Amino acid sequence: MQNILELTYPELESAVQAMGHQGFRARQLWKWLWRSGVREFSAMSNIAKDFREQLTREWSLVWPEVHEVQTSSDGTIKLLLRLADGALVETVLIPDKDRYTQCLSCQIGCPMGCTFCSTGLMGFTRNMTAGEIAAQVLVAREYLRTHGLAQNVKNLVYMGMGEPLTNWDAVKRSLSILSHSEGMEFSRRRITLSTCAIKGKMDVFDAEGLALPAISLHAPTQEIRESLMPGAARWPIDELIAALQGMELKARERVTIEYILIKGVNDSLQHARQLVRLLSHLKCKINLIAYNPGPGIAYAAPEHEDVLAFEELLRKKGFTVTLRKSKGQDIAAACGQLKTEALGRANSTSSEEGRSNGTA
Ligand code: SF4
Repeated sequence: MQNILELTYPELESAVQAMGHQGFRARQLWKWLWRSGVREFSAMSNIAKDFREQLTREWSLVWPEVHEVQTSSDGTIKLLLRLADGALVETVLIPDKDRYTQCLSCQIGCPMGCTFCSTGLMGFTRNMTAGEIAAQVLVAREYLRTHGLAQNVKNLVYMGMGEPLTNWDAVKRSLSILSHSEGMEFSRRRITLSTCAIKGKMDVFDAEGLALPAISLHAPTQEIRESLMPGAARWPIDELIAALQGMELKARERVTIEYILIKGVNDSLQHARQLVRLLSHLKCKINLIAYNPGPGIAYAAPEHEDVLAFEELLRKKGFTVTLRKSKGQDIAAACGQLKTEALGRANSTSSEEGRSNGTA
């Protein structure tokens, strides 16, 4: 049976009509699925009993299961989720005042092969479906509710495991599910899609308008990008920046540039000057992230003073710069550094919910 969470709203409407019911039933059903977050058709109390029974006969309603939880000292919560086929994937909840930003995964593994990233080194297993991607938010909301955490998920970042533009069909469908006005209602300004940028696919930001772009650049030159991001660097860096300059943005919108500082690789003042030259004509803001080494990866974290000097140079040149300080944020933004550790532990230990290791 097909999981009903895989349907977009128009598809659910068609499915409801094909089952012999009026279209407005789809709205009720959608609210139960995506606003109330119920797990059973039988709990949908304002839907007629015979329709609920028909739904149970013809559709499944399957959420990812929480396999393991870790909570860091800064309040970041990592949920390791088990999908219906047993695949494990991680989503991260990052606290920010009275709300959370949730980092979503979109693939099991990743085809891009970034050399600083644990997910990249894992290789690619499969794409996640739209329902699997969107249901990460259902699970997170339920987790917060059932653990006495009053805050809710307010912002989404597609910044976890996987490269969204290489699974665009499912990612686009998940965006349509998560932004629907009868359900979770995440607006464009509350959804950021982080990508290392794929040639020929950047027009989705203009054409679809469903999310704001954040570009994982991580290098000031083509040569450095080739060593850090061999898959992404097939698109020469100058062409990438020119394409970003041509993007249509609304009045106050800017492209976000993500830049992970790695010791001795891209963190010197010379690299900062190269970055200034590269981005001088781009309407952008820069997120600097101090690298947090993953297991089995040879790169090292930058010295704190080098990070501050890098940041100061960019600010002096007029850029808006954010320096990610929290470890939880570092990990989430680093796009997959957590997974090898989490998956390795999941393979070697039994499920253990609620453990706090303080290290995220
Ligand atoms: S950094 Fe992102 S795009 Fe690169 S391998 Fe990791 S998950 Fe994939």
